[in-house]
Amino acid sequence: MNIAVCIKHVPVSNDVSVDPATRNLVRENTEGMINPADLNAIEEAVVLKEKTGARIVVFTMGPRDAEKSLRTALSMGCDEAVLITDKCFAGADTVATSKVLASAVGYYGSFGLILTGAQTSDGATGQVGPMLAAQLDIPHISDAQSLNFENNAGGKIEAIKQFAGSKIRLAATLPALITVEFGCNDPRFPTLRSKLASNKKELLVYTRSELMLPQDSVGLEGSPTEVIDSFAPERGGKAEILSGNAQEAARQILGLIESEKGNF
Ligand code: FAD
Repeated sequence: MNIAVCIKHVPVSNDVSVDPATRNLVRENTEGMINPADLNAIEEAVVLKEKTGARIVVFTMGPRDAEKSLRTALSMGCDEAVLITDKCFAGADTVATSKVLASAVGYYGSFGLILTGAQTSDGATGQVGPMLAAQLDIPHISDAQSLNFENNAGGKIEAIKQFAGSKIRLAATLPALITVEFGCNDPRFPTLRSKLASNKKELLVYTRSELMLPQDSVGLEGSPTEVIDSFAPERGGKAEILSGNAQEAARQILGLIESEKGNF
């Protein structure tokens, strides 16, 4: 079985600049890394590969810098990496992103399972996974904490997720997409040998023309939503650390609400 893992190259920290004209994050030359939840998705894929002999192809849509994240994914055990990059993809919202990803996954070949992170650390909409499943017209399970694929039980995969304070086990018929929750496993560290080997691997590079996508269906042009503005939240206000046990703290909170009553 082929497994696809979609990863996003996200800024290492929040001190990123925003392009005043397009109001998009300036991703070029910003120190980037694999989105944390995507490391968990890669780990789930590699565990499945070890159990079933599956082959893993990792995809990312992003600037050329995103090659760094693909090489990390290769050094963790992915077999092939696809960089989907084109100036016209910039500024994509989640609709346009999922469309490009669906086109790239379909262009590569057929996959029994597609894994994504549950959400990214920058845009953090959590929309791309479900949208990608919709674009590919396959079932999806979101926020999985663990996967179970024992002997390909009748072409289904099982996932366990947290739901309303308890855990539920779900099954989906393959091909399916599963979004993997951040922190649900311990992603392996690449070894020196795997890092050296990953640096030698040829990346596949897909541009808009390979994918034969109309220009107005991708990037800012193909995005029905746009980031109107982005600004740092106002700092300020006062904070008070309450002491004592829960009852004493509750009494203090009550007193504060009483004293502020006139100001609401
Ligand atoms: P999520 O939906 O949170 O990502 C879930 C998973 O999808 C990831 O873990 C990863 O596995 C996969 N994935 C996501 N992006 C890629 C990619 N480029 N390549 C491969 N796999 C990927 N767009 C909107 O439509 N609506 C918004 O409200 C919105 N708000 C934004 C706010 C900020 C601060 C920023 C920086 C961007 C915002 N965007 C928004 C744009 C959004 O970041 C892009 O559409 C992006 O490509 C996917 O959205 P996301 O980061 O929310 O991903």
